[in-house]
Amino acid sequence: MQVTWKVEGRISLKSNDSTIANVFPGMLPLAGVQVKVSAREKILGVWGPFNSWDTVTTNSDGYFEVKKEKDKSDRQFKIEVLFKDNTLKIYPENDGLWNTITEGFTDMFGQITDKVEDAVEQLLEQTSRIAYDVKWFKILDEDKDDKKHSHGTIDFGYFIFGGSSKQDLGDSIAVKHATAWFVYKKVFSVFNGFGKTLHFDDKKPVALKYPHDNPIIGDNTEAAYSDPYNYIIFIIRNKKSDWFNVDTIVHELMHIWAYQHCEKEKAMAWQLAIHGSTHSGLQKKSFVAFHEGFAEWASNRLTRLIFGKDSDIYGGTTDTGVPFSRRFLKGKNVKNESDIDKSEYAWISLFNILMTPDLHLHNFNSSTDYAAAMSSSSVTVPSRHVCSSPALTFDEILSVFIEHESDGYKKVLTKNEMNLDDFLERAKDISDKVTQDHVEAIKILLDPSKTDSAVSVICLPPKAPRKPGEDWKPPKDLQQPPVISGRRRADNKKETDKAGSRANRRPATKSKKT
Ligand SMILES: [Zn+2]
Repeated sequence: MQVTWKVEGRISLKSNDSTIANVFPGMLPLAGVQVKVSAREKILGVWGPFNSWDTVTTNSDGYFEVKKEKDKSDRQFKIEVLFKDNTLKIYPENDGLWNTITEGFTDMFGQITDKVEDAVEQLLEQTSRIAYDVKWFKILDEDKDDKKHSHGTIDFGYFIFGGSSKQDLGDSIAVKHATAWFVYKKVFSVFNGFGKTLHFDDKKPVALKYPHDNPIIGDNTEAAYSDPYNYIIFIIRNKKSDWFNVDTIVHELMHIWAYQHCEKEKAMAWQLAIHGSTHSGLQKKSFVAFHEGFAEWASNRLTRLIFGKDSDIYGGTTDTGVPFSRRFLKGKNVKNESDIDKSEYAWISLFNILMTPDLHLHNFNSSTDYAAAMSSSSVTVPSRHVCSSPALTFDEILSVFIEHESDGYKKVLTKNEMNLDDFLERAKDISDKVTQDHVEAIKILLDPSKTDSAVSVICLPPKAPRKPGEDWKPPKDLQQPPVISGRRRADNKKETDKAGSRANRRPATKSKKT
């Protein structure tokens, strides 16, 4: 006689990562995880083979259930989980394959020069085609522990990665995969709250591989990196170090976001693949500093938003969201305006400047690392001067990456625009909140060779409306019927804007862009 069997349980994570534990100290439900339930019964007094009953996906509480019509004989169960869906895949080790692929590239990473650029580019393109494989983790196996269940509802309760030593629940790699799953799903949900154009690419899932150890790169210089071709994030674990932590995996995920929202170009990948060992000093190419500064800054904003924690920058200074002082940037080898876009720290500071309200209250000449905010009573704004800061939101900064055809930007951000002048110009043209005055002020505030106070560049005298002379007469045009609005679009928008902003530099009167 057939009866209904129901197997249920909850998949969760207990993380000891300091960033996660800061705000999620307890058990964390793992949503969207695939769960495969298999069962077996005794045949002639001997346990038979396990047969899969069904594969289901956990709900937002990490809950799963499998129902099956079967006979009443007692059963043993096996339960496995897989960290894979159409947005995210997590790969375990597969180093044999990597060894084969990288043969013949030995010694290259010791000293990267422009000459090996094509070879490394080729290497990355080749690794793009590697078929890595996801792995089923076993969380229950009643094979060994002579347990059995009679028919009805069997509630296995909580399966806790990192909170149990049973099967793979205590396996350090499985726990990290569960952690990456939890963290990346949190980040995805933040981005899904923004406009569609800012979402992660839904046509190709992001993949994370951990552990990863590239035999051709020395253990001391090897670093986590993100492949711009296949969206695979490689998190290193070798004899010297284990790179897996929340800050690093979110930093790498932000590289993937940037690759998905800017133009991918040759010579980008090889530079970025070695970024881990190149954080100090200035970069030769501003796009490298841009990508690094962006990934670190965006990751810091996200860990603040999701986990309520200010992260440090590569184990050094904490990124509190406050811009850096000129003195700090000088200590990072930024000497003058031309160095700014070669420094990832200066990019981090620039993005923070774009988000900071009341910039005039900040002391960029501070002797500390930060342009700390002063009390408004200690800052004197000259009479009738108007203070204006861009105060963009996080997603408004992300929006500078994508195309804005009506503002004259038909393409996403290109490598050649990843420099101070072009990026600020693009931000100004795309965002109604950024003016030419802001652009000029930001350059001064970032420049360690300058000493101007923020109030002197952020709070400007009002511009007197132009008074017509005594002999003024309305131009002929004004007596003509108005121009049909659609016609004006035919003008070169960008040129019009530039001319407009030069002539009229007050934010209050800046023309509204569409
Ligand atoms: Zn990076």
